Amino acid sequence: MQVFVQSIDGQTIPCEVEEGSSFGDLMHQLEDVTKVPFEHMRLSWGIHCYNEESVFTPLLNEKTLVLNARLPGGVIEPSLLILASKYNCEKMICRKCYARLHPKAHNCRKRKCGHCNNLRPKKKLK
Ligand SMILES: [Zn+2]
Repeated sequence: MQVFVQSIDGQTIPCEVEEGSSFGDLMHQLEDVTKVPFEHMRLSWGIHCYNEESVFTPLLNEKTLVLNARLPGGVIEPSLLILASKYNCEKMICRKCYARLHPKAHNCRKRKCGHCNNLRPKKKLK
């Protein structure tokens, strides 16, 4: 059976798939065509989302799936990723009250923990 995949740049890619085969197979095919890394790919049809373990059912015959890129933190532009990590990740955290402080902080700015100097760098996302 055939499905169509609408890629991120708006072009529609016809794909031949076996009924009962997994989305993972299709995603690997699409990786070559769209250059979207396999692990960041997400396919959806209407309100349904499919992961690599989902299988094709006859319901999807000749339907158009939408390809989305799922990036860490939902950020699309690399420059925005840097900006977001600057504002959200490069911070010091108070061990007592968990206040988020600027990266050069030595004391907490909150009174509830007595402006304590027990700070740690914010843990980085994996
Ligand atoms: Zn504090």
